[in-house]
Amino acid sequence: MDLLTEVPRGLFIDGTFHPGGERAALINPATEEVLCEVDLARSEDIDAAVEAARRAVPAWRSLSAAERGAWLLRLADALAVHRDLLARLEALNVGKPIWECQRIDVPAAIEAARYFGGVVRSMHGAVLPTEGPSLTYTRAEPYGVVVAIVPWNYPLMLALWKIAPAVAAGNCVVLKPSELTPLTALLLGRLLETLQFPSGVINIVPGRGVPAGERLCVHPEVDFVSFTGSTATGQRVGSLAAAHLKPQSLELGGKSAHLVFDDVDPVHAARIVFNGIFLSQGQMCVAGSRLIVHQRVADALLDELTRRVARLPVGDPLAPDTRVGPQASAAQFAKTLRYVEEAAAAGGRIVTGGGRAPGQERGYYVAPTVVLDPDPDAPVVQDEIFGPVLTVQRFADDDEALALAKRSRYGLAAGIQTHRLERAHEIAAALEVGTVWVNTYGLMSPAVPYGGRRASGYGRELGLEGLYKYTVTKAVWVALR
Ligand code: NDP
Repeated sequence: MDLLTEVPRGLFIDGTFHPGGERAALINPATEEVLCEVDLARSEDIDAAVEAARRAVPAWRSLSAAERGAWLLRLADALAVHRDLLARLEALNVGKPIWECQRIDVPAAIEAARYFGGVVRSMHGAVLPTEGPSLTYTRAEPYGVVVAIVPWNYPLMLALWKIAPAVAAGNCVVLKPSELTPLTALLLGRLLETLQFPSGVINIVPGRGVPAGERLCVHPEVDFVSFTGSTATGQRVGSLAAAHLKPQSLELGGKSAHLVFDDVDPVHAARIVFNGIFLSQGQMCVAGSRLIVHQRVADALLDELTRRVARLPVGDPLAPDTRVGPQASAAQFAKTLRYVEEAAAAGGRIVTGGGRAPGQERGYYVAPTVVLDPDPDAPVVQDEIFGPVLTVQRFADDDEALALAKRSRYGLAAGIQTHRLERAHEIAAALEVGTVWVNTYGLMSPAVPYGGRRASGYGRELGLEGLYKYTVTKAVWVALR
């Protein structure tokens, strides 16, 4: 396929591509056929990437913030020039509709590079009031070598959310994309090579969690581990990094509540709920997968949701009209269907969907699914499915709504739809989550910090917090006499 001839093969280490030790086939989730083969990193390849990053640190951190920012702005321009190719590769590899890749994934990656390329120029320490004749100030210094491990659902966007702030702050990075979806990261390597981005500052090593990911978490020359992925893997990554005293940030899974009160138009509310769960086939960490709706508006909202689902064009991710593609892998497909079957067997009512998408004989297509009145403690309500499955629970008053919303170990995000301002603010304050959207869902900006609490992890991506996260504070005391 033409598109794939654009993608370099190998591991991008120290400014050029090198062969990896093992090759693995990528599967096209829309056809279940082999897409291509890619090289995977062995432990020794990981060591080479970390050493390249380590060698690059002194020169890179000694550049001015403006110079580092300028490199990121050049990278943003190169990504923008190749935006169409990047979007098509992401659609092909992940299976998400090209429409989303063009409007969300690729622009968000470019915006992250632009934002951190600019805002790094305002990074600063502080002068502190101390007793006696001394000047005491802090410096926000880079850690050195940062490891970025990202999952398969937003490969390019999540890579830039880590790479851009880390290198802006003066660190050098080793990126490990998911072994399932490395194609846009490999193209990113080619763009860096073409730009002659300083060698070793950004290294890209597709590889399996074991050995590649684990080696990165324990390598003695790694100074910071920035991980995005599932809660289970995050616990493993976190414990490995902690055993080697490495600071870390963990952006993990979610099971976010979307509360809809009875003072809103249920038809309009359905549109917001719909986008909150069914974009990207539900494979979003922030997916609003638990709808908690007032009993007075529930029927009207569910009717509109069902109508919308029926209108969705399902099919080839590369077709411009497609709005539902396949799940990204056979494992995700099987996992999603298993949860739906278990929910139905346990008494949940399948309002729409509930199996393979009609008309799709091949590919990992799951019909967008709505499950009404499941047991609040059932796995379909409590576990992150990472598929197009919305559970619906009805409530009678605000206390019940809040109690249902809080009945989760996760703490990533939540949505609230109401026109009563005091209610919106009270519930936003009461929820133990990292992001709350009121009368909207899923908006993101590189300027706004984003991350989780509890089983959704800790640390923030994006915003100034997401920049300073990649720095360590040094205090300097200067005697004035
Ligand atoms: P995983 O946790 O399985 O994998 C994430 C990354 O970690 C991949 O690159 C994976 O490599 C790597 N990895 C796997 N095992 C190890 C290990 N032992 N040591 C080091 N690295 C390892 O997540 P998924 O890829 O399945 O992604 C889905 C998850 O990501 C969901 O839970 C979702 O909620 C979460 N996510 C969170 C976001 C947030 O910001 N909070 C945003 C997006 C997704 P490989 O793929 O090669 O095995």
